[in-house]
Amino acid sequence: MAEPLHCYRHPKRETRVSCATCGRPICTECMVATDVGIKCPDDARLPRGARAGVMKRDQVVRSVLAGVGVAVAGIPVAYVLFLLPFTWLISAAAGYGAGVLINRAGGRNGGPLAIVIAVLATAVPFLVLLAPNLLAGAFNPRPLIAMVFAVIAAGVANRQI
Ligand SMILES: [Zn+2]
Ligand SMILES: [Zn+2]
Repeated sequence: MAEPLHCYRHPKRETRVSCATCGRPICTECMVATDVGIKCPDDARLPRGARAGVMKRDQVVRSVLAGVGVAVAGIPVAYVLFLLPFTWLISAAAGYGAGVLINRAGGRNGGPLAIVIAVLATAVPFLVLLAPNLLAGAFNPRPLIAMVFAVIAAGVANRQI
């Protein structure tokens, strides 16, 4: 049998259990059972997404491609949105849909990178349509508000759960 270890949080307590992530010994009182094994409280406290949220390279590529697709396809969509009532509400729904699309393309990992891609992809169509107005010095808050709703919804769709 291996030498008894001592809990890193309680140096006087012997244990044979160690954290699946960092390998530090932990006593039965400190250990936390997770879906991927026994962990120390520090590692167990990390949100699930902090481990699952690291996208593999091909998932990043797919997220970016999905983002470009959303940005391009979003231009006519945003154009129509501006003609409709409740633009902000529909924009939020469209932004969320775009966010989910990008999230799926990235293997449903979500996380900061997915949020950045989703936010940029969602903002692009609005900015393209707003650019002429903004450059002309005409400031219309309504489309900007719609953009903010869409961008937030896209980001929310990619948060880590
Ligand atoms: Zn640990
Ligand atoms: Zn302990």
